[in-house]
Amino acid sequence: MPNNSVALVDAAAKGSVYIENNGVGVFCLSCFLEEVGLTHGFTTRRGGVSPAPYDSLNLGLTRDDPPVNTDANFHRLCDAVGLEYNELALVNHEHGANVIRVDSSDGGRGIFRKPLPFSDGLVTNDPNVTLVTSHADCSAFFLYDRKTRSIGLAHAGWKGMISRIGQRLVERLNAEYGASPADIIAGVGPCICARCFEVDDSLAQRFAQEFNCPDIKNEGRPGKAYVSLEAAAVIQLVDAGVKVGNISLMHRCTFEEKENFYSYRRDGAYAGSMVAYMRLR
Ligand SMILES: [Zn+2]
Repeated sequence: MPNNSVALVDAAAKGSVYIENNGVGVFCLSCFLEEVGLTHGFTTRRGGVSPAPYDSLNLGLTRDDPPVNTDANFHRLCDAVGLEYNELALVNHEHGANVIRVDSSDGGRGIFRKPLPFSDGLVTNDPNVTLVTSHADCSAFFLYDRKTRSIGLAHAGWKGMISRIGQRLVERLNAEYGASPADIIAGVGPCICARCFEVDDSLAQRFAQEFNCPDIKNEGRPGKAYVSLEAAAVIQLVDAGVKVGNISLMHRCTFEEKENFYSYRRDGAYAGSMVAYMRLR
């Protein structure tokens, strides 16, 4: 397959569906909604109790927003989308490419129990734990294999993306549970888009080389360039053996959609945090 990033992103941009319950809004991958064995989503900033600038569904525990607010927000999310608060396991991200296996004994880790070991990706085949990752421009990888009933969820900023955290997640589902990459359906969450993600030209060159794809970057101001994180996501999933037809991008920009999302690039220290979540049911 030619590594034409625009064609790959277009092929995978199947989109998302906005779902709101009790004022709490989340985006879901259209193709994942057809899977009856799965609950998943990516939160927006709607439906929480946090005041400005974290208004309102801030789920970032390291911000200057009192824990009583973020805790109330996690409870509101659970009530709205049908999750058990006691079963949430929050990734303890390190902006790398480590993936760890979790199970029901990890419920509450990173939320009200001690944090999980450092990693950026989680896998499980246990239906009594909910995988959770946090995001504020960084994308999310959602993986599901129907045959082995196993799932994976990862946080992917530019460091995780260029370290192929998505590919590592596919490999781990295969190693732990025997999931065949050709059977895996994969989703990619909202992120800062190719029109907004400006980086130093040297970093853009590294992306082009890593993914063997010159058009993954576009020229910007002198010394700068724009990089497509979505293209990097699709290429590494394809390299891992996932079929293009089984890959789906939410294709939404955290930087541009201020009404929906927090963005670290846009709001800096005043950015709250969204989460991605996924569980078997
Ligand atoms: Zn954008």
